Amino acid sequence: IPHTPIAVDFWQIRKCPQVRLFFLSHMHSDHTVGLSSTWRNTIYCSPETGLLLSHKLKVDKKWIHPLEVGEKFDLVTMTVTLIDANHCPGSVMFLFEGYFGTILYTGDFRYTPKMLEQPPLNNRKQIDVLYLDNTNCHPEQTIPSREEAARQIKALIQRYPDHNVVIGLYYLGKESLLMELALNLATWIIVSPQKLEVLELLGLLDVFTTKEEGGWIRVVDQSQINYSAMVEWNKTHPTIAIIPTGREVKVLHEKIYVVPYSDHSSFQELTEFVAGLKPCSIIPVVKNHACEAYFRRYLSSKKHQCLQMPIS
Ligand SMILES: [Zn+2]
Repeated sequence: IPHTPIAVDFWQIRKCPQVRLFFLSHMHSDHTVGLSSTWRNTIYCSPETGLLLSHKLKVDKKWIHPLEVGEKFDLVTMTVTLIDANHCPGSVMFLFEGYFGTILYTGDFRYTPKMLEQPPLNNRKQIDVLYLDNTNCHPEQTIPSREEAARQIKALIQRYPDHNVVIGLYYLGKESLLMELALNLATWIIVSPQKLEVLELLGLLDVFTTKEEGGWIRVVDQSQINYSAMVEWNKTHPTIAIIPTGREVKVLHEKIYVVPYSDHSSFQELTEFVAGLKPCSIIPVVKNHACEAYFRRYLSSKKHQCLQMPIS
């Protein structure tokens, strides 16, 4: 973050010699590029992210400094408060306050009204710069709530009563969907031993198993769902595959279903968030498509209360 000693989800240390404080918003791989067991600086993150960081990337525990969500911490020249980002287990937003003003860095997040109703954002303190997750910043795109997406997935599964179900996911995310399916459809969820380790580390509900015969819903890596795998699976038992994702996926088999399920805020949710916060300025986190123009009318009209950042 320019004019601050802060880096969020950025680990190319030689490119930013002025950085003194490193923050990790969550454990998705596009946010940990450059992080490995050779890392030698303190990393601030949520307790869950801290556990995953040492488990997956083997970062030495002495460099991992977990901070409780919702508490304000003093870091010499500034304070930081972590806010649940409702994106994946351990994901947080960072509220930084210091000589550089007040900066809210959302990381990846799925907005819920609770975010503006609870501390620290409920006091409507002036945010000077909002770093915003603009993944879904397209007004014409409609994205269902995760509850609605989960309903669609359950309905889809119930259309195929005698089928096995394969669900394609990534390393982390959508665990709550799996737990809901397990409870609602009364089955264990079959996962790989590696995935089970992660789920146990997170202390999630005991609905996961590595035993192939333990249930009829199985989780695989999304990349494993393809035409030839579908043919193979259907040789032994009728099987459908479901890919819950906010991204575009090409489907080449009639029994592969892509259900729009996003862990990022929809455009409507982003609008509500920005309109509620009225920041002085917005910087999109995803650089390749801007979105500030859509929100310009919600920016603070009290420009005199905004901290003027030097132009770099
Ligand atoms: Zn993410």
